[in-house]
Amino acid sequence: MDLATIDLAELDAVRVYALPMRNKFRGVTVRRGVLLSGPAGWGEFCPFEDYDDAQSVPWLRAALEACTEEWPEPVRDRIPVNCTVPAVPAEKAAAIVAASGCGTAKVKIAEPGQSPGDDVERVAAVRDALGPGGAIRVDANAAWDVDTAVTRIRELDKAAEGLEYAEQPCPTIDELAAVRRRVDVRIAADESIRRAEDPLRVAVAGAADVAIIKATPLGGVRRALRVAEACGLPCVVSSAVETSVGLAAQLALAGSLPELPFACGLGTVALLDGDVVADSLLPVDGQLPVLRRPPEPDPALVAAATPTADVQRYWLDRLRRVHDLLAHP
Ligand SMILES: [Mg+2]
Repeated sequence: MDLATIDLAELDAVRVYALPMRNKFRGVTVRRGVLLSGPAGWGEFCPFEDYDDAQSVPWLRAALEACTEEWPEPVRDRIPVNCTVPAVPAEKAAAIVAASGCGTAKVKIAEPGQSPGDDVERVAAVRDALGPGGAIRVDANAAWDVDTAVTRIRELDKAAEGLEYAEQPCPTIDELAAVRRRVDVRIAADESIRRAEDPLRVAVAGAADVAIIKATPLGGVRRALRVAEACGLPCVVSSAVETSVGLAAQLALAGSLPELPFACGLGTVALLDGDVVADSLLPVDGQLPVLRRPPEPDPALVAAATPTADVQRYWLDRLRRVHDLLAHP
């Protein structure tokens, strides 16, 4: 179906939601968006609030795909996910891993105000908690220059007794490529991949061994699958901090990728204080299910998450503007 021809007025329901975050994330303390209902179920339109209308068009495509089309046939029905260890002291890091039930831990490092020794201690504590069979990835969120990245990744690889990969050590694609030539650890690109053409640029530059991809900002499950295929890199599907409605599309992507060699970053519903569905997509034994349809929002939970009239108006205006751009680019 041509998603650009869908008339918003023909959707069955449009509901604005606002849910507080348990901790500030990307400077965001409340996650907001719009739930759309159509013939295939529910979709979620939730571009971050600093994104302009043009950047938000793929997010609308993803929402409209979910509510008007069937997702592709999955090739697996459960998705292993990582737990996330924030830049906390070593003891707390070990406790988070032990409580998670996950076999893969993603450890935040290079936090402003902390020392390289803090990172080494945290990663070593995570290895102790996971045991030798677990996988450890680190995420520097583009904090380092090339030389610092090379030094730190080698140290952390030693402390981890083998890192699975290092995510976005530096800001640019050229820097990632330079680091990748100098270390034995795999490099993953996350912030370098925001638009549909980015994964291919990353692959052509030799900048990464792993692509972090997200169905929601890439325009939906089908488009993200094409992006994954075009770049030819192993992919890790990661969330955009959606409710369980939007997360189901990310799980549909993870379920349909021909290969899925690493755990995904989809255990994120717990970052929200609340949800819009009764049966939240929270990991059990480190895994999430692949659903064939988006989950149904619970009317009482949607009512409880409905923001003020001003906020609703803002989001409905934004939805209309972005839809105009989609329909008339
Ligand atoms: Mg990242």
